[in-house]
Amino acid sequence: MNYDVLIVGGGPSGLMLASRLSKKLSVLVIEEHESVGVPQHCAGLISIEALRSIGSPAFRSLVNKFRTMELYSPSLKKIVLTGSPLACLVDRVLLEEYLYGEVCGRARVLLGTRVIAVSKGRALLDSGEVVRGKYLVIAEGASRFITSRILGKKPPGIVGLQYDLECADSRAEDPVRVFFSSKYSPKFFSWMIPVGDGVIRVGTAGPVNSMNTRRLRGFVKFLERKGFVRNCRVKRFFGGLIVSEYPTAGTYGDNIIVIGDAAGQTKPLTGGGLYTISILTRILAEAFNSENPVEEYRVKSRRIISRLIFQKIMADLLHNIPDEAKDEIWEHAIELDVGGKLSSIGVEYDRHEENIVRFASKHFVETLSMMRTFPRALSGGVVRGIILAMKALLRE
Ligand SMILES: Cc1cc2nc3c(=O)[nH]c(=O)nc-3n(C[C@H](O)[C@H](O)[C@H](O)COP(=O)(O)OP(=O)(O)OC[C@H]3O[C@@H](n4cnc5c(N)ncnc54)[C@H](O)[C@@H]3O)c2cc1C
Repeated sequence: MNYDVLIVGGGPSGLMLASRLSKKLSVLVIEEHESVGVPQHCAGLISIEALRSIGSPAFRSLVNKFRTMELYSPSLKKIVLTGSPLACLVDRVLLEEYLYGEVCGRARVLLGTRVIAVSKGRALLDSGEVVRGKYLVIAEGASRFITSRILGKKPPGIVGLQYDLECADSRAEDPVRVFFSSKYSPKFFSWMIPVGDGVIRVGTAGPVNSMNTRRLRGFVKFLERKGFVRNCRVKRFFGGLIVSEYPTAGTYGDNIIVIGDAAGQTKPLTGGGLYTISILTRILAEAFNSENPVEEYRVKSRRIISRLIFQKIMADLLHNIPDEAKDEIWEHAIELDVGGKLSSIGVEYDRHEENIVRFASKHFVETLSMMRTFPRALSGGVVRGIILAMKALLRE
């Protein structure tokens, strides 16, 4: 059979797109694992906007909601953000199972089948079979086995390692805590997310060559020493590659589209991909109503891609600030009550760049004052950020 759309990869990108397309087109999803959602690598923290954008599968896999987020400097100075609620946690395995449930019956899904090569309108499966489709969507995630041959190799990314810890006194209503210390998470951050039922998800991330389980264990010991967790037992260990780079629209020729992690379509500041995937798969599905879906998608995705490029510039700046400078920035932000002011204008968890612009337009004096604490961080970072942004725009 000749399908309208072949989708390589049955992760969130592939399944969300298939769910949105399969009402009107014939779709084949090819997933290498025997079941969807496993092995889990993702923490599952998303904004309320992303929850709504994904829709029913996200609501059905909802685990916890958070009103408070605490951001810690290396010496544990604390900025508190509040919202009603600010973010939520979804069960990532359940999310993909529910997405799969939506797709089944409307589209064909081949589980336990790996795509080993693609060319225009065709995919070669590990069984030797060749499947055909008018359009080819590659949603293979951060592994990029196929994408690297089409779009070129990407630099090694960031790796995130996590434990689910059983802790006697952890409460579901505790805040999400984020720690910015290069000791445990060089050029990134570490996190604590209450899962509920006495379980807390702790994780840490950094460049591939600098991360190992020793660093994660060190982070847990630090949390114990500082009284954030007590009497813990490791319930499970998981993790994977986090994408934090300049995103691309991922279009190639007039019938190949790369989406999700494979195209760098995450929020570079946090590596979170579910929000962007939910938006970009909707834009792509709608583009299939037009004469030239690939061109339509390229144009319509520009707004969100440019938001992500802006976030990447912010990410390069923030993640490269030396620890002492972070402490100074936190101290000044606490003096000016930046956390309280941000919370009162309404923090949008997934719209980091808009939060800054809205804060700056409402609190101009505080913004200028905050900028004075950035000189060390800004010196090399701004120039590098601008050069990288220009390169990314030229590539587009
Ligand atoms: C440690 C960690 C924590 C994270 N935390 C969050 C978070 O809190 N919030 C958030 O929004 N995001 C988070 N993310 C990011 C999020 O997990 C990704 O953005 C998201 O999973 C990307 O979805 P995807 O479908 O593009 O790729 P994937 O989820 O990687 O799915 C790709 C699928 O394609 C399949 N596949 C690959 N190659 C082939 C092939 N050749 N043939 C057939 N099938 C193939 C794979 O088996 C996989 O099922 C986190 C990531 C990590 C690593």
